[in-house]
Amino acid sequence: MFGDPVLKKRADEVTDIDGRLVELADEMLLTMHEAQGLGLAAPQVGVGRRLFVYEIGESGPRAIVNPVIDEADGEWEYEEGCLSVPGMYFPITRAKRVHVTGFDLDGNEVSIEAEDMEAKLYQHELDHLDGRLLLELLDEDQRKAAMKELRRRAEMEQREAGPAAR
Ligand code: ZN
Repeated sequence: MFGDPVLKKRADEVTDIDGRLVELADEMLLTMHEAQGLGLAAPQVGVGRRLFVYEIGESGPRAIVNPVIDEADGEWEYEEGCLSVPGMYFPITRAKRVHVTGFDLDGNEVSIEAEDMEAKLYQHELDHLDGRLLLELLDEDQRKAAMKELRRRAEMEQREAGPAAR
């Protein structure tokens, strides 16, 4: 969740695709489905490794290890949200088309051309692996308003939890 330092760190390369990593990916997919998200990056579950899972269109759930965007062009704006900043959406402009490479959980190289929603998803998840939240893509005024709202929510949560939780 927003505020956790793991979200601001660059995640480490995965050096070994082993059983534990596959298990992690499975758990991440469960978490993602429960939260009704389209994608989830490892830092969002507290793990600083370069891995994200996603499910978009009809391709079924997938995971990409050590993803890299090596080509990007065009511009596309969309109301974007993030499971680590729940319930908040911002108009964010990203590249319209990207080419992503990486590895699947069997260690096979993957090469994906994507546009619009799918391209946005890869850029969003890759940002997580580089320690960047979508709040950092906002302009000054939007960012201030968002931070204010996040502080207000945190205070409300504290109040609801009562003095015992402080
Ligand atoms: Zn996110």
